[in-house]
Amino acid sequence: MPIPAEVFIPMSMHIGAPAKPIVEAGSEVKVGQIIGEPVGFVSSPVHASVSGKVKRLEERVNSAGKLITTVVITSDGKQALYEGIKPPEVHDRVSFLAAVRDSGIVGLGGAGFPTAVKLSLKEPAKLETLIINGAECEPFITSDTRVMLDDTSSVWEGLLLLQKYLAPPKIIFAIEKNKPLCIAAFKSLANKHEGVEVMALPSVYPQGGEKVLIYNTTRRIVPEGGLPIDVGAVVINSTTLASIARFIKTGMPLVEKCVTVDGSAVRIPQNVIAPIGTPLQELFDFCGGFVSSPHKILYGGPMMGISVPDLAEPVLKITNAALAFDEKDAVQKLESPCIRCGRCIENCPLGLMPAEIETAFKKGSGEDLELLKVNLCMECGCCSYVCPARRHLVQMHKLAKVMLKNHLEGKSL
Ligand code: SF4
Ligand code: SF4
Repeated sequence: MPIPAEVFIPMSMHIGAPAKPIVEAGSEVKVGQIIGEPVGFVSSPVHASVSGKVKRLEERVNSAGKLITTVVITSDGKQALYEGIKPPEVHDRVSFLAAVRDSGIVGLGGAGFPTAVKLSLKEPAKLETLIINGAECEPFITSDTRVMLDDTSSVWEGLLLLQKYLAPPKIIFAIEKNKPLCIAAFKSLANKHEGVEVMALPSVYPQGGEKVLIYNTTRRIVPEGGLPIDVGAVVINSTTLASIARFIKTGMPLVEKCVTVDGSAVRIPQNVIAPIGTPLQELFDFCGGFVSSPHKILYGGPMMGISVPDLAEPVLKITNAALAFDEKDAVQKLESPCIRCGRCIENCPLGLMPAEIETAFKKGSGEDLELLKVNLCMECGCCSYVCPARRHLVQMHKLAKVMLKNHLEGKSL
């Protein structure tokens, strides 16, 4: 899409410490120039997505309700590249991980965990299976699919880089069966290469959830409180792989993102490559605007997406979709009393008991929430979706997790 007149680039688009801004109002910046430095190990640098002048640094409340320092850049429309852009020197695992850190790449499937941290395994020999997540299971979202089809070579090069520098004995490229073109493209590459299996998985939400994917590809269960590497696995998203390969080849950090723009209120749904920091309003305008007044805007899909309060919110590194729904699709149905049907329990991919969690939450019982393991809930929304009483289960689980955290920390609930 055309370069926006202004971009709004938050210093926190990842899990971990926000980056520290190193520009100020009036600074001239170019595309790919670092504007925020990582603070500590679990953090990520942030780069300018347009060339132009920093208008101001402001504190903005993000959609999670947190106050985040945001760099506002007025574009000069030239998209001049930063002179320091050059391919990194990569010759071993350490220099590869350093390059991934410099790239600003974080989990682009939506998790936002800094990729360099994920790949910095304390005991590399424990890695048995690298799983490439090409499931893209959530309704509406097709941005990973577009990257896998339109930039197959970068995804594959990213896979080869990880094979070279992480040396996993086995790589499984997991793709849902509803993407036959992706399966065919990567099968034809994998057939000529050792150590890579393309696995076609049923198209079932939440197939792409990390723990679900690990189980469905390796039949191993990540232990409670553990990490995928505890069962010998690392999972990486296919778009993340493509971004790594592009950075290693060109030195251009993560400054743009493929975003699915869709929903019943959008005139021309499509996938759009947008500079990070583009206001959502411009994204929707580029897609023909709205056919009817949007009643709900989401970052992400309809199951796990976060409601966006304001169209001035920007495209983030982790934005894989921006959805806008009309009133008919947006109004939440009224709750009625639980009829103890057990469907929520039957359909929880992690075997949790949402109806019981709700009872414990209403009682304000931190002990019961701990026993019911609400902390394991991945907020996939399956329980809310199947509930005939339309209980707002996943919303309540988010609050119940906070209640449990306070209980464990000895704070008031
Ligand atoms: S949101 Fe519901 S279905 Fe999904 S993991 Fe949590 S409890 Fe289970
Ligand atoms: S699915 Fe809904 S109605 Fe059925 S047990 Fe769960 S919360 Fe109750």
